[in-house]
Amino acid sequence: MSWRHIMDAAEFRRRGKEMVDYVADYLENIEERPVYPDLEPGYLRSLIPTEAPVEPENYDDIMKDVERVIMPGVTHWHSPKFFAYFPTGSSYPAMLADMLCGAIGCIGFSWAASPACTELETVMLDWLGKMLHLPECFIAGTHGLGGGVIQGTASEATLMSLLAARCKAVRRVQNFAPEKSEHDILSKLVAYTSEQAHCSVERASLIGGVLMKKVPTDNRYTIRTEMLRKMVEEDKAAGLIPFYFCATLGTTPSCAFDPIAELGPICNEENIWMHIDAAYAGSAFICPEFRPLLNGVEFADSFNFNPHKWLLINFDCSTMWVRNRADLIGAFKMEPLYLKHENQESGLVTDYRHWQIPLGRRFRSLKLWFVFRMYGLNGLQAHIRKQVALAKEFESLVRADKRFEICADVVMGLVCFRLKGSNELNQNLLKRITKSREIHLVPCQLSGSFVLRFAICARTTESCHIQQAWRHITQLTFELLQEGNH
Ligand SMILES: *Cc1c(COP(=O)(O)O)cnc(C)c1O
Repeated sequence: MSWRHIMDAAEFRRRGKEMVDYVADYLENIEERPVYPDLEPGYLRSLIPTEAPVEPENYDDIMKDVERVIMPGVTHWHSPKFFAYFPTGSSYPAMLADMLCGAIGCIGFSWAASPACTELETVMLDWLGKMLHLPECFIAGTHGLGGGVIQGTASEATLMSLLAARCKAVRRVQNFAPEKSEHDILSKLVAYTSEQAHCSVERASLIGGVLMKKVPTDNRYTIRTEMLRKMVEEDKAAGLIPFYFCATLGTTPSCAFDPIAELGPICNEENIWMHIDAAYAGSAFICPEFRPLLNGVEFADSFNFNPHKWLLINFDCSTMWVRNRADLIGAFKMEPLYLKHENQESGLVTDYRHWQIPLGRRFRSLKLWFVFRMYGLNGLQAHIRKQVALAKEFESLVRADKRFEICADVVMGLVCFRLKGSNELNQNLLKRITKSREIHLVPCQLSGSFVLRFAICARTTESCHIQQAWRHITQLTFELLQEGNH
């Protein structure tokens, strides 16, 4: 076999069509597969050779191995029996756009590196920002000082905002105290977030090398405003420099919402950068009935959510807006000659490499463009509303069964519930659920209690799946309580 015979355009056409059929079959029949794999760690190594092949192999053999090697080890996130974590988006238009992204295969680090890649991204972030009714300052337009960028994940958006805030704080302090060294200032900086914030927030502070303090929450798991104020006052009195606060809209354990309209003014008064992490819940703000939860965003310096969670966009696509793009760009600008081009940064010319950690970036805005146009705002709102209604349906099933309790307000597509009783009892229930592989859930901890999280995930989840899931949970509960009585 010579290299000339390795998949030419004619074979690509044939195999591509086969792959589309494979994908559609996979997703249409996904319910027939166990949602969670039954394997031991290391299962895969024994199924494939220990070395890469020296001679080219046959495509049919590769596809056969997808079923033999890969599929048995897949957790099927797009199965309507999957209720774990938070959803990850999936839709056919997004997958098609991703295919085109692969074909163009540009690396859009600067405007000149592929103008369409940069310009579509800026405009799509404006479209999406307008769908959310973000304040004008976050919209790029042609002359805006703010604007949006696609990051890979919420974790990166949080880290970027923290690093930009850190840089801004150091410069601010040095402005009135030029004798202070950067090292000196960094050791005095203090950041804040909720004790319910995602672990990626604390991780950002570890990577950024700054102290971060956890603000206590109330009985609804939202930050207590007076506690943030008190901590800031105490830290200032102790000679520390408060500089960054990350609020959460839709916390990971229970989907709680920090009161940003109260917290924002404190941050603004104290020169504290307010970042808002709305990774999951942000998508729902396209619906007018959920938009009030975003009131107070006008106080934020940066805001982020993941269309790749709940807006039908396949991973990865985390959209971030900043009030002042100069804060990001100014923090990390590097301009070697080989990356320079004639059209320098303006409202129209953006070099997105300054807005993110890596240099390279994919043409991810294609996914947004395809999905926004195929669904329209109405279609996207219908998706959110349907999933919230399914969560409410599950909530009412739980509430109707006196053996169970609901552990947090059900605002969006997440229901936190548990059996009334010990943590051990609930751990045993979850073990049975996981072992049965009929549905898949993960737990969380709320006020010291072991709680089950039931998140509406797959795009194709329907009422029948909710009813089936509940029947299954109550059956396992019955067995568990029976055995407990012996
Ligand atoms: C899921 C989630 C994250 C992490 O998202 P990545 O995009 O995987 O980094 C961060 N914060 C919240 C509130 C989340 O729900």
